Amino acid sequence: MPDCSCEKCVEACVYGNPGWFLPGQVEKVADFFDVPPEVLIENRLIKDYWPKHLIGRCDILSPVKIFDSSLPSEISDIALEGKCAPPWYALIPGRCTFFFAGVCTIHSVKPFECREQGCGPEFKQKWPGHSLREYIAGEWLKYYAAKAAK
Ligand code: SF4
Repeated sequence: MPDCSCEKCVEACVYGNPGWFLPGQVEKVADFFDVPPEVLIENRLIKDYWPKHLIGRCDILSPVKIFDSSLPSEISDIALEGKCAPPWYALIPGRCTFFFAGVCTIHSVKPFECREQGCGPEFKQKWPGHSLREYIAGEWLKYYAAKAAK
């Protein structure tokens, strides 16, 4: 999404699933906050996964969701930051950790998925169905394969 002016687009930031980063993007967010990437991951990100790519399970980084305090404690008490997303994670609405006062506070360095999705037809034409998540998951698989080959 180009900015936070479209209420429909920011639904993902408030009630949906925060976007996925591509490999290499988390370092830019860490620079933005002037913290090491490991600290950012431990405090603000979650390790998500694409169910079709079991090899890449829990290796896709994304901003963590903050859950509504009215949720049952067995869900809301689980500390998710820096951890692997549980299977139910995508199903429960939550606010992105970087969404504050109606805007994305990391707009200039936000995840690739956030940048590439929106409610207009041009977004849907460019990334039909689940193709955007497929693409990002594929980039993470390539990244880990290259790392393992070193
Ligand atoms: S990173 Fe920004 S655009 Fe992406 S979900 Fe979070 S608040 Fe929304």
